[in-house]
Parts: sequence; C-alpha cells; structure tokens
Amino acid sequence: MSESETKASLNFIEQIIETDNASGKWGGRVHTRFPPEPNGYLHIGHAKSICLNFGVAKKYGGVCNLRFDDTNPMREDVEYVKSIATDIRWLGFEWPDIGKAEPEDGALFASTYFEQMYQFAVELIKKGKAFVCDLSAIEMREYRGTLKAPGKDSPHRTRSIEENLDLFQRMRKGEFHDGAKSLRAKIDMASPNLNLRDPVMYRIVFADHHRVGNSWCIFPTYDWAHGLEDSLEGITHSLCTLEFENHRPLYDWFIDAINEGRTDDGSGEWGKKIIHSQQIEFARLKINYTVLSKRKLLELVRDKHVSGWDDPRMPTISGLRRGGYTPASIRDFCTDVGVAKFVSTIDVGRLENAVRADLNKTALRRMAVLDPLKVTITNWPDELDVDGAEKATEAGAGAVDWIDAVNNPEDDGAGTRKVPFGKTLYIERDDFMEDPPKKFFRLGPGREVRLRYGYFITCNEFVKNDAGEVVELLCTYDPATRGGDSPDGRKVKGTLHWVSAAHAVNAEVRVYDRLFMEPDPDSPKHEKDFKEFLNPDSLKVLTDCRLEPALGEAKVGNRIQFERHGYFCVDYDAEKEGRLIFNRTVGLRDSWAKQKGK
Ligand code: ATP
Ligand code: MG
Repeated sequence: MSESETKASLNFIEQIIETDNASGKWGGRVHTRFPPEPNGYLHIGHAKSICLNFGVAKKYGGVCNLRFDDTNPMREDVEYVKSIATDIRWLGFEWPDIGKAEPEDGALFASTYFEQMYQFAVELIKKGKAFVCDLSAIEMREYRGTLKAPGKDSPHRTRSIEENLDLFQRMRKGEFHDGAKSLRAKIDMASPNLNLRDPVMYRIVFADHHRVGNSWCIFPTYDWAHGLEDSLEGITHSLCTLEFENHRPLYDWFIDAINEGRTDDGSGEWGKKIIHSQQIEFARLKINYTVLSKRKLLELVRDKHVSGWDDPRMPTISGLRRGGYTPASIRDFCTDVGVAKFVSTIDVGRLENAVRADLNKTALRRMAVLDPLKVTITNWPDELDVDGAEKATEAGAGAVDWIDAVNNPEDDGAGTRKVPFGKTLYIERDDFMEDPPKKFFRLGPGREVRLRYGYFITCNEFVKNDAGEVVELLCTYDPATRGGDSPDGRKVKGTLHWVSAAHAVNAEVRVYDRLFMEPDPDSPKHEKDFKEFLNPDSLKVLTDCRLEPALGEAKVGNRIQFERHGYFCVDYDAEKEGRLIFNRTVGLRDSWAKQKGK
C-alpha cells in the first residue's frame, strides 16, 4: 500500500495522530480519555465515543483513561458510576490501573482535582483574568446579548483583585447562598462567540456530592473544568462531539490564561507551563427509531414506559446486553459507522445487522414454537425400526424417534444433537391456514410439508373447538422421508419447525420490537413530545411457548437462534423466578424494511 492509500484508510482523527507522531508533537505519546458524566446509563452513542477513544489509544500503543466528569452534584449518583464502569468493561475495554474489587476501580474523577482547579482559579483572579459577579442567572442572560447584539459588561467586572480574592474565598467557605455569586472569566462581552462572553467558571451549589460529600459548595463548570482535567492527566488528544466545536476557543483560552507568565522550566512567579491538550470534535452518533439523550432516556424510565435503564428496548449498553447483543456486535457496528466530521442518521437496521452477523456465526440453532398448535400423527406407530428409537410404553402413545439435528450450519465444530419426534407435536399456529392462498407454502388441508430434520407430513383433517378456533391438526407422515428428504424425489415447498409435545419445555418469550414508530421521534420538526411516538407493540409477552428439550438447560445470558424466528437470549428474570424466560434480540430479517417496501 502506498503512503497516500494508507492515509486514506485512516479516519480523520487517526490522521491527526499520525501527523502529530511524525512531527514529534507529543513525543509519540497518545493519551485519550472517555469522560462520562455519571448522571445516567451509557447508550449506544457513548459506545461510539468509547470505541473511538479506547480504540485509537490501543492502536497507537497509548492509553485511555476513564474519567468521571462529576462536577454536577445535583444529577449524579454512584449507581451511574458503577453502571458506566461495568458497561465499558463489558464492551471489552480497559483503563490504566483497572482493578477487580469494584467496577470503577482505577477510574479517575474530576472531583479529585477540585483543590487544584481552585488554585488555578485563584491564579486567574491574581492575573486579572477572572472576577466574582453578583448577577443572577436571569440578569446574566440579559447582559449576555445575542448572536446579533453584543453583550454588556457586568457591573462587577471592575472589582479589584483583592476584593475578588476575598469574595472567591468566602464563596468557597459557604458564606453566600446558592446562585448568589459566581466566578467568571474576564474575556470579551462583545465576542461573536457567545461562549467567550465572560463565561462562568464556578457556581455556588449546596448539595451532597457522591464523592466529596459537603466539602465543596462551589463547583466548576464544564468549560472551566474539562481542559484542566485533560491537562492534569496529560491527555494528548481530547476527543469530543461537535456541539463543543465553538467551545474550543474557550478551552484554549483557559489553558493559555494559566500558561501566561509560566515557563517551560518552571522558573519565575507562576511556575511551569501545564500541558495544552488538543480538543478534536467528531460527529455524534444518531440512530433512527430511538432517542440518544440521557435526559430523555431517564424520562422513559421514570414514567415507566420501559421496565428500567436495562429494558431491552432501550438504546443503552445495559439494555442491548440484556436483550442479547454481544460486545463484538456493538464494536463492529461502531467500526462500520466510522468517525466523521458531519452528523448523519444511521439506520438502526445496521445495528441489528451487526448482531445478526455475529450471532449467525456463534449461536446454536434450536426449535421453539411460540404460539403452539397441536398436531397428531395418526399413522405414527408404537414401534419404529430405526436406530435409537424408543418403543411406546402404552398402546397408542407412539414411539419416540430421536433425530439428528445440526447445531449450527455456520460452525462445523458445533456438532449435532438429538431431537425427539413423536405422535403428538406442536407447530406454529400461523403455519396452518384453513383456506390458504396458493402462495402459502405451509400447512393447509391436503397439503404436505417437511418438518425440519424430521419427516414429510400431510394434513388430512383439522379439529375446531366451540369457539370455532382450530385446535388440532390430524396428519399422516411418510416413513420414507426420515431426515427430511423423499427418496422418490418428491418436493415440498415448506419446511416448518416443530417440537414433540411430550418432551417440550415451557417458556415465556418476550418479543421486543423498536420502541418508537417514528424514525426521528425527538426531531424539533414535530410539535409533539417524543413520547407520543412510542410503539404500542414494542413488547409482546408470549407465555405459552413450547421449546425443544435441549433448551431446558439454557442459562441466563445464553444466546440462541430459534429457527425461523430470530435470535433470543435467556433473561436474568429466569434465575429470579426459577423458570425459562427468553428475550428476543432481533428477528432473522429486517421486518421494518419489508413494511416500508410494501
Ligand atoms: P447525553 O446527551 O446523552 O446526556 P452527554 O454528551 O451529555 O450525553 P456525557 O456523559 O457527557 O454525555 O458523554 C461522555 C462522552 O460521550 C462525551 O465525550 C460525549 O461527547 C460522548 N457522547 C455522548 N453522546 C454521544 C453520541 N451520541 N455519539 C458519540 N459520542 C457521544
Ligand atoms: Mg453531558
């Protein structure tokens, strides 16, 4: 590959890193970080950022920190800290000093730098670059101006350095109430970039912080804190989403302001220069038929539209995991969508395809009847002349034929298993029609189909209950078709899955579908709330499913393909409730694409 070809296959962030490595900007060092705020569970959008940050660090022999941006005590919680760390580990990534006792072992916290950040703020006050302001939030907004009109200077902007130092210290001590004062950078109230109009660095918040308790009542803002956290950790490339592009001048301004008067060797009044990490923005992941915002996801949880953050319909990592997604499928999806500078909406079908592709290679195939209809084989004998067949124990009960079935046609090593075939079977209710159209290749009166791995059967009669529903099919089987082929070359169009009634295990199957009916539920173009687009059919609970006996052994988290249905996994409720419960991960095909094509 030529050098230009190699470059072209790199994403733009890798190109920046390679250019930096070539120029020696960071001495070949690559140090990234993933900086979640612990105010919710991670979603698939975060997975993109995780794969990117941990991915490039690994690719270039560097490291990636997990750093909690815990600067908003009101919205944060340890529950979120734990879930975030658990999810990143599950995705297959590790940060330095990762430990085993608690999920968040080895993670870093912005709150550990509070004292250092405070000292930096004092330095900016001393340099005349920050002031204490008494304007309320509402007044501040009025003074701020608009995109078209410049703002006005705060009346407190001209306070002396001594007065600012005194007030800032007293803010920290807790002498003023919530919101009474703030510390602001002195930049430019006429800047065309609103972020540079004397932005707030500290606000007063009396709240219990999940790590530092009550030891602080002033908290740094994101803009002030983030670049300092990066700098203190020696981050080289600080990757964030595009909304922060017009915050970059402020990110740079803060570091430059601290470095003003500092020197490379630390001589002089202010000491040594701090590292100036490079902020680089990329497009956030947007997927259709869902919402990717912690605030909105929290709303769904709080209003009980879903069972929790890990409801399999949620686009959270924990929801995808519970639903049966594999870590590899999520990583593959992130690689597939790539990294770019412009936002585009990704079809959720690509995420579903990623898990199908992964599970197709690894999931065992099993037969499961979700909506059972009884089939009686009227000519089934009490005794069979085949290897391994069990004789009927009582007249008319029918022998049992243990038939070979392939565990995974995509994986030769997966082997085969024996499936029992007997006199009474179940097939899927919608695999039979009383009066089927010509193109219906399943069962109907007088029609013949193949039961997978088993025999050809022909439906001769059907039985109805008083309500007029078909409750039983009376069929005959052709003994010559054992294994699923006819020696006379006779063809059948349909192959159905089935289970032996006497051997089947019962299960509940939760068939999940997309949570929203509308591709872009939180688009500002709708006048309605995003929750009005919830799909009323996003969960169907099937309580009377009959599965082949091998599934009786399935354990929580096992992922299996139910033939003709899709991929399923055992839900953790199974263990709690002592019965079999499966979640549908995804169907075998994209049924939504089909609907749209209609
Ligand atoms: P949300 O809007 O869902 O609350 P956030 O950006 O506030 O997300 P943070 O905890 O601040 O959540 O995010 C941690 C990191 O994940 C940030 O670097 C952020 O840019 C990144 N991130 C968040 N959402 C996405 C997304 N949809 N696509 C890519 N990266 C994302
Ligand atoms: Mg955020």
